[in-house]
Amino acid sequence: MAQTTDPDVLVVGAGAAGLASAIALAQSGFRVLASGSLDLASNGRTVALFEGSLRFLRSLNLWPELRPVAAPIESIEMIDATGSRVPIPRLAFRAADVGLPALGANIETDKLVARLAEIARRTDGIELSSEWLVDIAQGDAHVRATFSSRRSIDTKLIIAADGQRSTVRAKARIGTRRWSYPQAALTALTAHEKPHQDRSIEFHTRNGPCTLVPLKPREGASHRSSLVWMMSAREAERRRALPPDSLAREIGREVDHIFGLMRIDGGTGFFPMMGMQVTRLVARRIALIGEAAHAFPPLAAQGLNLSLRDIAALVDCLAAARRRGADIGAPESLRPYAQARRPDIALRTSGVDVLNRSLLSDSLPVDLLRGLGSLALSNIAPLRRALIMEGILPGEISVRREGALFP
Ligand SMILES: Cc1cc2nc3c(=O)[nH]c(=O)nc-3n(C[C@H](O)[C@H](O)[C@H](O)COP(=O)(O)OP(=O)(O)OC[C@H]3O[C@@H](n4cnc5c(N)ncnc54)[C@H](O)[C@@H]3O)c2cc1C
Repeated sequence: MAQTTDPDVLVVGAGAAGLASAIALAQSGFRVLASGSLDLASNGRTVALFEGSLRFLRSLNLWPELRPVAAPIESIEMIDATGSRVPIPRLAFRAADVGLPALGANIETDKLVARLAEIARRTDGIELSSEWLVDIAQGDAHVRATFSSRRSIDTKLIIAADGQRSTVRAKARIGTRRWSYPQAALTALTAHEKPHQDRSIEFHTRNGPCTLVPLKPREGASHRSSLVWMMSAREAERRRALPPDSLAREIGREVDHIFGLMRIDGGTGFFPMMGMQVTRLVARRIALIGEAAHAFPPLAAQGLNLSLRDIAALVDCLAAARRRGADIGAPESLRPYAQARRPDIALRTSGVDVLNRSLLSDSLPVDLLRGLGSLALSNIAPLRRALIMEGILPGEISVRREGALFP
């Protein structure tokens, strides 16, 4: 909805993180301008969101509108196909192990962004603009944002949700450390002969995991899964150029024909694998969230789950600052956000890095460690339960406090 005065907060970037943060902020009574174009390319990409994220979306009353396009994930199975010299047992994490109906849900990313945009468009307190941010000037009382249209606005705070190549982050001179992996992810939506039974299946190979995640059926395709297949960039390019039938056959072979005959059922995508950490999560009147704040390979489906926790923490901090009568863009209002999020972000970034490198390595000690870890997890139920809870409801106890958005 259009606003006549400057907003309390400018959210730059209308991807999943930007739109979800705009909605959460507006529901907490902030006036928000969310700027950026809607990237709705169908590139075969989906997001698996775990129970903690679903609770957050429910707390914002967004889940009823997202649920029709989401497929439940009842179990996550891991099959070792690395040819390890140490036998690595098949692992299964089931929702029933932790007394839940599902561990999470999988949604096509373009559908998620489209639905969030629709909701944002009709939410009081949000103005959506397709303008592209080109510059910022950080002042004592406000920050000035300038768009490619040459329009400028003043606001108390800019939330950078403008992705890995964030303009806001660069203009605020926040440093980054970037690294790359010798891999790319090939993504695709697939249809297959046999039902997936709400199972997400990861085949761990020496090139990285090849994962199938359940998708909602659609007319003409009763059994569907999304694919994230990590391999060398050269192989990913070769496979992406294949005719759909040949690509589907290669996928079928890689996953041991677990779901019978497969076909490609939508767009495909190609994503070079990299990691990125930022030196600071906040600067003067700036807070980073989502992939502007952290990036790593899509192993264990962490990216957007982590970003939703950024949003929950940031909105809590801003609401607390406003209750104290403080300026929401002041350093003392933003510092608690940075302090709250740093450990979680560091843990996920290093956890994904270690997991990925352990698959790429074919050294005996690493295989031995992976074998012992899997054996312990498949045989010790309390350990398995603890790991599932950490995956789907991370930090549940530490963030459970009165008024918190992330119960
Ligand atoms: C193959 C793959 C699989 C994945 N699977 C999962 C999963 O299962 N679970 C999970 O939780 N995560 C997953 N992720 C991660 C997840 O997709 C991302 O974390 C998430 O989509 C990123 O959202 P974002 O809004 O932070 O960034 P983006 O989607 O990159 O959005 C940034 C937006 O900012 C806009 N923008 C940029 N610059 C400007 C500017 N100057 N002005 C205005 N707008 C600007 C862009 O146009 C874009 O719309 C996966 C990622 C990949 C690559």
